[in-house]
Amino acid sequence: MNFFKIVLSAIYPNRCVACGEIIPEEESLCEFCSEFIEVCDSSKLCIKCGSLKKNCFCNKRSFYFDGFVAPFLNDKIARKVVYSFKLNRKERYCRFLAERMAVTVKQCYDVDFDYVTYVPMKISTVFSRGFNQSYLLAKELSKSLDIPLGFRFLKCVKNNKPQHELSGKERFENVKGMYSSVDLPSGANILLVDDIKTTGATLNECAKELYKSGAGSVYCVAALLSDKKKGK
Ligand SMILES: [Zn+2]
Ligand SMILES: [Zn+2]
Repeated sequence: MNFFKIVLSAIYPNRCVACGEIIPEEESLCEFCSEFIEVCDSSKLCIKCGSLKKNCFCNKRSFYFDGFVAPFLNDKIARKVVYSFKLNRKERYCRFLAERMAVTVKQCYDVDFDYVTYVPMKISTVFSRGFNQSYLLAKELSKSLDIPLGFRFLKCVKNNKPQHELSGKERFENVKGMYSSVDLPSGANILLVDDIKTTGATLNECAKELYKSGAGSVYCVAALLSDKKKGK
């Protein structure tokens, strides 16, 4: 480590992204948070509907996307990291999440992706928040997986109610017609990125549009799977 790095790390020590405890330079989480963060075990996940196998609802609804995976479940530690990133745009939170998402994608999908793209945000939200967290995650993923970033493949064309205010069924209705997609190279394999998946309604609608525009396959990845029972 050079002198400036030593001085810098004395003033700004590396901290756990979840609890803020001082940790070694190369780590992202402290020992406690690494032990207790709830990882999303892909063997317990139904990749087709993107819910935990115990909550699988493939028999109730079919999805446009070809798969869904996530590195983390919606527990206290992972949620804190995701929301800190969503609210404060902390770069290292983004890098941490994207790194774990990249590992999950490599482990779970055997697909030659042509593009990484992301769920777009309503223009009013982009203005009030100042950034789209799914875009930032997709940009990091594109770098770490070495897959080109499909910029503005999807556009938000309707101003609907926020999804979190609605029940499971309402969410699927609410997102209908919300997105449009540009023409894609025919048969392109797309990795679609979002921050949190709850019902999958948003990803499903985006996948539908990407297919309409020529995609050959659409596989999804989010940082967090928020899998509640009763399809909420
Ligand atoms: Zn910690
Ligand atoms: Zn399923």
